Amino acid sequence: MSGDRSVASPQESSPATEFDLIERWFSRPASLNQKQDSGTALGIGDDAALLDIPVGMQLVVSMDTLVAGVHFPLDTHPEDIGHKSLAVSLSDMAAMGAEPRWATLALTVPQRDEAWLTAFSNGFFALARRFNVQLVGGDTTRGPLSITVQMHGLVPRGQGLLRAGAHLNDLIYVTGELGDAGLALRLLKAEVSLIDERLLARLNWPEPRIHEGIALRGIASAAIDISDGLAADLGHILTASGVGASLQLASLPLSQAVADCTDWSLPLSAGDDYELCFTLNPRKQANLLAIAESCGYRFSCIGVIEHAPGLRCMLPDGELFMPDKKGYDHFGSSG
Ligand code: ADP
Ligand code: MG
Repeated sequence: MSGDRSVASPQESSPATEFDLIERWFSRPASLNQKQDSGTALGIGDDAALLDIPVGMQLVVSMDTLVAGVHFPLDTHPEDIGHKSLAVSLSDMAAMGAEPRWATLALTVPQRDEAWLTAFSNGFFALARRFNVQLVGGDTTRGPLSITVQMHGLVPRGQGLLRAGAHLNDLIYVTGELGDAGLALRLLKAEVSLIDERLLARLNWPEPRIHEGIALRGIASAAIDISDGLAADLGHILTASGVGASLQLASLPLSQAVADCTDWSLPLSAGDDYELCFTLNPRKQANLLAIAESCGYRFSCIGVIEHAPGLRCMLPDGELFMPDKKGYDHFGSSG
């Protein structure tokens, strides 16, 4: 994210084909350690990829689309878009407790803009390398900017973390801190000129909690990643599990910037956090603390699963707070 991030104005280069574009920007050779045990029998270049699924593992598949002007502001830096388009898919793998392995990329771009493609692919591959993800195929078309990433991961059979699985008296946890991305977006929309770099990074460079998700196999009773706001996404766990919950808002992990806003809708409803929310049988609490300690993960206990359906948020003074649970709905009245 550092250095000169200016992007030259769009330009059509010499006549070049779609194949040349794929070859130049997206056919990156696997790193050595990927080659050894990648499970990629055949990657980019044929009609489809061939992937080897190890015995005893289940294939975990997810897909996410980012549309310019809907999922990111039109002037977002292409390196940020490259990172985020992969990060949101990785976050779904984390929420399933899966180890990400292979991605496919459907890229629709308005023109062959070399600087844009270079920055986008740099952001994408920097994150892919960190998590040993191989790009094994995709589709490239011309049109309004839109990016779809399909992610393929592996989890030992039966160990995937599901939304359904929370039980009465389970504790509710989240990773990291909540509300920073929502605050950054709010400041961008208000055209605040100087926004703290750390806040902007939380919006544009979400860190998928892959290691935490894998560590939660066999420990969490249910899990989800927080893309639409804690209230909405925890609501999905509650609905899928047929339970309710109460949250202690004073226990929400907040950065100083979010705490200073004294606006509970930021950590509860703003979205784009890409932290994990999970539930835990209290008997497993010691295991969780041991993992947190040895791996340096941040897990915060924020509430408890209850019998009565619905979500009750308790303010620090004991009063009830009613969050906007809806989250962002593309087909809702505000979408
Ligand atoms: P087809 O016409 O058979 O669908 P394509 O021209 O769409 O073939 O793709 C050729 C090869 O390039 C395929 O292996 C495809 O998976 C890969 N590919 C196309 N676009 C991308 C992309 N954006 N990123 C990675 N691989 C891509
Ligand atoms: Mg194709």
